[in-house]
Amino acid sequence: MNENTEISCEDATMLVSEQRDSPITEEAAAQLQQHVAHCPYCAVAYKQFDSLFAQLGEMLGADKPVL
Ligand SMILES: [Zn+2]
Repeated sequence: MNENTEISCEDATMLVSEQRDSPITEEAAAQLQQHVAHCPYCAVAYKQFDSLFAQLGEMLGADKPVL
């Protein structure tokens, strides 16, 4: 097993969307962070994805009655 396995941009993108649906493993999260830290493309994509889902969350949240 290689602990320093670098993931591809494809894997990183998959992990970003995957962690929205279900929690990913600490290992996967660490790999994702590591990739984003070194890959400018995924860093931008990650931020855009993050803010997009934040906006979606606000929109969906505003639609529901607050309990
Ligand atoms: Zn990348």
